[in-house]
Amino acid sequence: MSGIKDSYQRTIDYLRVSITDRCNLRCVYCMPSEGIIPLEHKEILRYEEIIRVVRIAAGIGVRKVRITGGEPLARRNVTYLISELRNIEGIKDLSLTTNGILLSRYADKLSEAGLKRINISLDSLKPDRYKEITRGGDLHHVLSGIEAAEKAGLTPIKINMVPLRGINSDEIEDFARLTLKLPYQIRFIEFMPFGTEGLWSSERFISVEEIKSIAEGVGPLAPAKLKKSGPAQYFRFDNAPGVIGFISPISNHFCGECNRLRLTADGKLRPCLFSETEIDLKPALRGGAPDDEIERLIKLSIEVKPKGHDIGHRNTELWSLMKNKECSKRPMSRIGG
Ligand code: SAM
Repeated sequence: MSGIKDSYQRTIDYLRVSITDRCNLRCVYCMPSEGIIPLEHKEILRYEEIIRVVRIAAGIGVRKVRITGGEPLARRNVTYLISELRNIEGIKDLSLTTNGILLSRYADKLSEAGLKRINISLDSLKPDRYKEITRGGDLHHVLSGIEAAEKAGLTPIKINMVPLRGINSDEIEDFARLTLKLPYQIRFIEFMPFGTEGLWSSERFISVEEIKSIAEGVGPLAPAKLKKSGPAQYFRFDNAPGVIGFISPISNHFCGECNRLRLTADGKLRPCLFSETEIDLKPALRGGAPDDEIERLIKLSIEVKPKGHDIGHRNTELWSLMKNKECSKRPMSRIGG
């Protein structure tokens, strides 16, 4: 069976698994400066529990798994988890999202464990600004991590950048220019209202339409067809080895094609990033429930997956209510972006 339909006839075949809420960075748009109070060790799903959930989800049609966090490379023995997940029957695509800080240490091991692809989050190419945005991160660690990932064959290299007006928006062209020399996928993702300490505001938000017109300052962009593109719209400069992706969860949301479920580090299935609805698997996992019961809960979370959000309709009351507010109780680091 490939995928299971939700109530709106969308095929759900993609599970994003957050394996930790801890992170070695404190990005200004993702976490409060003091960090979050980390979940107690016992609250976090053990690898065996995650493997069981993925196995059961694969049995009802999940085909794609992405490991995320927090920072997934900050959790011990992540290569063990990868080598187990890749052997689950039905899982065809296994990837990981990282900030890249520990990547040079792990790239070879991740590839040996069976990981094929990696996404690296990077919001500035200027060392001082990178340090500011991440509250202390060293850009050089990320750059050598990217190099190591390329050498280890974790390709194509996908770099995710969140442009924030007045913070790093002047680097959109620099990021776009990377694709002229390197076979990377540079993906611009709209800022979402998960920020903390009041960083989120609609004034900081830059729509994909505007990001694209800024990137076109480098040269004309033509649509590029990629085999697997997910929600990104891809474009290429003439003869460029790399491509540019635009992801617009807010201005032009892709809820109609959303195929995802999220599993938080503490075992909650979250059918929609923008909805607080969560189904707690932990009591069942730890209470001796049989696979059938876990399967029922996964199916329930698919059944209650909302049709979509309408945060981007700026003329609605919601957008103005959100102007200077956060909409999610959990920061992204707690959900798994
Ligand atoms: N630590 C890993 C990393 O840095 O990729 C994985 C977790 S991080 C929460 C996943 C992604 O969420 C990152 O690419 C980050 O840029 C993105 N993210 C966090 N907060 C966001 C926000 N408010 N709007 C848009 N993207 C956000």
